[in-house]
Amino acid sequence: MKVNKHVNLGNGIYSVDARYICPGNACCYLMIEGDQVAIIETGTAYTAEGIHEALISLGFGIESVRYIVPTHVHLDHAGGAGVLMQRYPNAQLAIHPRGARHMINPDKLIEGSKAVYGEEKFTQFYGKIIPVSADRVLIIEDGEKLYLENRVLEFRHTPGHAEHHFCIWDQASQGWFSGDTFGISYAAMASDLDRFIIPTTSPVQFDPDKLLASIDLLMSYGPKRFFLTHYSVVEEPRKKADLLREQIECYREIAYSLCHEPDREQKILLAVKKMTLTRISSAQPSLDLKAVEKLLELDFILNAQGINIWASKQEQKKKSDV
Ligand SMILES: [Zn+2]
Repeated sequence: MKVNKHVNLGNGIYSVDARYICPGNACCYLMIEGDQVAIIETGTAYTAEGIHEALISLGFGIESVRYIVPTHVHLDHAGGAGVLMQRYPNAQLAIHPRGARHMINPDKLIEGSKAVYGEEKFTQFYGKIIPVSADRVLIIEDGEKLYLENRVLEFRHTPGHAEHHFCIWDQASQGWFSGDTFGISYAAMASDLDRFIIPTTSPVQFDPDKLLASIDLLMSYGPKRFFLTHYSVVEEPRKKADLLREQIECYREIAYSLCHEPDREQKILLAVKKMTLTRISSAQPSLDLKAVEKLLELDFILNAQGINIWASKQEQKKKSDV
C-alpha cells in the first residue's frame, strides 16, 4: 500500500497519509465534488503539508475547501484542525456537539493527551494545537446532512469509542467514513486471505454496549466499504463487523474475569494481546506475527487502559446502586 502520498480511491475520494507515528498508521481523506473539497479527518499539525500538496496536485486552490470534518476530537483525528482552518479561509469545521468546545478551546484535550502520552511523545506525535474560531464551527446533530455541491453527507452520532464521535455516510461511494468506530486495520494486517481488524477502545469513554450499537447502526445502511482512519479503505464490511463484535465481547469478558485482580490493567493488556494475536494467527497464518505485535503495541496498551477505565466505571456504578 502506498503511503506518504495521496491515493485515488474512486468516487472523488483520495486518501492522504497523516504522517502520524509511522507511515501507514493514520490517514485523512479529501472528498472532491465539482469545485468543492471536504477534508475528512485532519491528522495532526504535521499532516497539513501533505494535505496541501495533495490538494494542489489535484488542481485545487485554498478557496475550494468547504468543510473540514474530524470524526471526533482525539488528536490523531482533529489535532490539525486549527492549522487547516487557518490555511483554508472558506472552510467551516463540522464537529459533534460534544466536541465543539474542545476545538474552540483545546486546553483540556492537550492536558488529557499529555496525561496519556507524556510531554515528549505529545510534542513528537501532535505538535502545536491551534484553537478554531467559534464563528467557523458548525455543530452537527445526529442525522444532519451537509452538501458538497449536490453530494449528500449524512452524519450519525456513534458513541462507544468516544462520546464525541460521529461517522459520515457517503451515498455516492456507499461508504462510511468511520473514524475509530469501525476499528483499526493497518496495511500490514492484510494477507492474501483477508485483512484483520481490531476495535479501538482507547481512554476514557469506551463503552462496549454503545460501540456494538454504533456498529449495528453503521451496518444497517448496507455499506459496501469503510474508509477507516487507521488505515484507508476496507471492503467486506459484514465480515469485518463480525470480527469487531466478537472482539468487543471478548474485551468485556476479559474485564469481568479480571475484575478483582490486583494490577488489573497489566493483566487486561496481556489478555487482550494474547486473544488478538491468537485470532490473527489462526485467521491469517501467513502474516509475520512478531511484526504485527510490534505494530499493535501502542494500541494494545491504549485498549487495555480504556477497558480498565470502563471496568472501574462499572464498579463505581455498582457501588452507587447498592
Ligand atoms: Zn484514532
